[in-house]
Amino acid sequence: MKTIELLERALPEGRVRRDDETRRAHAHDYWAFEAIHDVAGNPTEAPPAVVFPESTSEVQTILEIADAERTAIVPYGLGSGVCGGVRPGGEALVVDLSRMAALIELNAEACTARVQAGLNGAECERLLGERGFTLGHFPQSIAVSTVGGWVATRASGQLSTRYGNIEDLVLALEVVLPGGRVVRTFPAPRASTGPDLREILLGSEGTLGIVTEIDLKLSPKPAVEIGFAARLRSWEDGLEITRQLLQAGWRPAVLRLYDGIEAQRNFNDWFPEREPLLLVATEGSEAMRGALELELAAARDACTSRGGEDLGAAPLRHWLGNRNHVPSWEDLLGNGLVVDTIEVSATWDRIGPLYGKVAQAIAAVPGVLVASGHTSHGYTTGVNIYFTFVGSAKEEQEQERIYSGAWAAAMEATIACGGSIAHHHGIGRVRRDYLPRELGDTGVEVLRSVKKALDPNGIMNPGVQI
Ligand SMILES: Cc1cc2nc3c(=O)[nH]c(=O)nc-3n(C[C@H](O)[C@H](O)[C@H](O)COP(=O)(O)OP(=O)(O)OC[C@H]3O[C@@H](n4cnc5c(N)ncnc54)[C@H](O)[C@@H]3O)c2cc1C
Repeated sequence: MKTIELLERALPEGRVRRDDETRRAHAHDYWAFEAIHDVAGNPTEAPPAVVFPESTSEVQTILEIADAERTAIVPYGLGSGVCGGVRPGGEALVVDLSRMAALIELNAEACTARVQAGLNGAECERLLGERGFTLGHFPQSIAVSTVGGWVATRASGQLSTRYGNIEDLVLALEVVLPGGRVVRTFPAPRASTGPDLREILLGSEGTLGIVTEIDLKLSPKPAVEIGFAARLRSWEDGLEITRQLLQAGWRPAVLRLYDGIEAQRNFNDWFPEREPLLLVATEGSEAMRGALELELAAARDACTSRGGEDLGAAPLRHWLGNRNHVPSWEDLLGNGLVVDTIEVSATWDRIGPLYGKVAQAIAAVPGVLVASGHTSHGYTTGVNIYFTFVGSAKEEQEQERIYSGAWAAAMEATIACGGSIAHHHGIGRVRRDYLPRELGDTGVEVLRSVKKALDPNGIMNPGVQI
């Protein structure tokens, strides 16, 4: 391919890799649909080459050449996306950001840091921690995802209720556009300078440009971390406790409500029967200790006044120790289990019926054994629900049918109940057909116009999002 040869000539040696192992490792992200085909021995086609830039100017060179040659480009962080945002096929080139992984500067006075987009999430947190700070962004995939990937997918961390989601933690961005131009948003604490360019780029899933640097908002590393778990009488009680705590102004870092199925599955020592569980944890500086203790007391009172049982901190410690463990696709599919998660959100007035109807719709898909859910990201206006389904099938086609059926059922029921189709994993390919139902045709047209303006030749991650 001519573009590959041009890139090999323009970039320092070693930046362009064409070996089979590298190409195959970049054929797709962590989307369950791809895993079904991989495990069955029908892998997706690998890209012709993978490019590993080491600076913003090298990314500019790549997007200048690719745009001139009309060659499609798929940005790649660490491939932990779960929606099919990475699927280059035999034509597109993958741009892997993992060699752009520096903490460029840390401003202790302003509580900000500038990092390169390919920085691994866990490494980012380690580097900040060494200097007494935290980003407060802890997705379950923290060790296998990049800061740039978080920005590109509008990710959420497990402590989002206190620290915010990634859009709350990004002060400014540097993005290279097709053709090689660079846009830098201004790192002000707040500005009234027209529409926020950050917001156009956050969640763009590689369809507008390549994020190269990010200015992050930091918090001091917490000195106090306290929490408890409660067994509740009903899921509805849990939703009501969560709503009342948040609307009263409390912001515990963790406020996770598990339905009975998930409590039994994940906390079996305490939940031999199916009963709902609420995990509460709060954290902050030593100076805030009194306020944090009050926060916890308010949460405890809210649970016990509804007949909940305080189980102490042991289930919370169990969760903290195991929260990032996920079985591999090979293990699940190899045992004939089709498993995936679907996260949606809704306002408080809609979330109760939505939980029941979505779980019921997924469970009604032939081959699905069980559908369950938990909440993990709460707001004064509503909450997310993270559904998990498990289906049983040995054959590839049957696995695909269950998988697609469960997703379609969840999306249709969410839309019917007035929920949003995606809380934090993004659109990718799996939700693409449903986006107009949420944004409306005019909304999607606006997004297409933005895409056309920034990427007139349509080289950025075609097939994703819109
Ligand atoms: C076990 C597991 C747990 C997870 N838990 C969470 C969770 O708790 N919270 C959460 O939000 N998500 C979670 N995810 C999803 C995933 O980790 C996130 O979507 C993450 O943000 C993806 O980061 P990545 O660097 O791996 O991106 P990739 O998967 O490489 O890419 C994701 C998308 O972003 C684009 N992209 C990547 N980097 C750039 C860049 N620099 N510029 C422009 N576009 C780019 C890609 O083209 C693609 O469309 C989980 C995934 C797994 C497998």
